[in-house]
Amino acid sequence: MLRLYDSLTESLRPLPSPGRPLRLYVCGITPYDTTHLGHAFTYCSYDVLIRFLEWQGVPVRYVQNVTDVDNDILREARAHDEDWQTLGNRWVRRFIDDMVALNVRPPDAYPRATAAIPEIIRTVEVLLSQGHAYEREGWVYYRAQHAPFGCLSHLPPQEWLRVSAERGNDPNDPRKEAPLDWVLWQASGRGEPAWPSPWGPGRPGWHIECSALANLYLGPCIDLHGGGTDLSFPHHEAEIAQSEAYTGCRPFARLWVHTGMVCLEGVKMSKSLGNLVMVSDLLQRYPADALRLYFGSHHYRQSWSYNEGLLAERAGQAAAWGRAASVGGRVPAGAVEACEQRFHAALEDDLDTPRAIEALDSLAGQLLSAPRSGPDSSGAAALTRLAAVLGLRLGAPAPEPRVIAGWGSHRKQFE
Ligand SMILES: [Zn+2]
Repeated sequence: MLRLYDSLTESLRPLPSPGRPLRLYVCGITPYDTTHLGHAFTYCSYDVLIRFLEWQGVPVRYVQNVTDVDNDILREARAHDEDWQTLGNRWVRRFIDDMVALNVRPPDAYPRATAAIPEIIRTVEVLLSQGHAYEREGWVYYRAQHAPFGCLSHLPPQEWLRVSAERGNDPNDPRKEAPLDWVLWQASGRGEPAWPSPWGPGRPGWHIECSALANLYLGPCIDLHGGGTDLSFPHHEAEIAQSEAYTGCRPFARLWVHTGMVCLEGVKMSKSLGNLVMVSDLLQRYPADALRLYFGSHHYRQSWSYNEGLLAERAGQAAAWGRAASVGGRVPAGAVEACEQRFHAALEDDLDTPRAIEALDSLAGQLLSAPRSGPDSSGAAALTRLAAVLGLRLGAPAPEPRVIAGWGSHRKQFE
């Protein structure tokens, strides 16, 4: 049985088996600096999780949002004298192209925040009526004292102001009752995009969009919520407060899974620091399978630093696996089965991809050293089938057809 580390209880917990498609929500990109290695690591990690579930016969309904209106996008658009929507769409298309190249299974729904403005407004109205929120001069705020801060991030209260300020909160906003209160709706400034609302023309805050979109596309209670570990506070804790107040359904998510951060020379990659390694640049020089193996060589909860030498080693490994799958040595059925069992056991244990890769590497090694019998040998077929759970294509000329078709249809929203 697959067990995953749940940030809420800080323990390994079995995945819910609901007898219907498993409802998964993963926070998506803010399209102005995508797709650097941090994004790719996160989405490839959830991709392996989904593939492993599907391989075990568990259907998954997967929703990922696009934060398509946001202060960072507006600032970037102003800096480049470009329309904010044109800029955002361009970055989303680039992200999608990277996801296709990496053979990432597309979400079943890929909504942009601005397509759900009525739902967001309805949610804010309910939160106001419940006394969790208040309005000042066209802005609406959520009272942070009503939020379960610390429940996922386990940050002590003395860290909340500092960390939330690093992640978009303005503690000095004079309209607020308290510095940790967060924006549900903000009045738009001159020249900024605005939608009509009961509080005047404006736009949604960031946290509320995920509560509204999760409810709209997956219903009030979801099975698994994911995102990078830097989203646990305050974003995901705000989501819990908003969603549980709005729907009355607890828990909002039965399991919370967070992925580690990717650094460059020990510093987390971010646009503001200018230390991004872009996937599209690496894909010019390395095959997608090399990147997938490189990501998988780190456990999903681990934070790690980019190292081109180690990526190059994974490129060699990907090539060897491709050869092993095509020459197909005659490996005894028992040895193939043992590798498959090791692979399965590793992934069931909190998605331990480094150990799963070791199991497949052992199979590839045995295939390469055994007498040749062709790609239809049972060992070669097993290697191809198991590598696909990790998202690898092993020499196939293109990403999977479902990857191309699914992302292709999402891409039309951003053209
Ligand atoms: Zn989110």
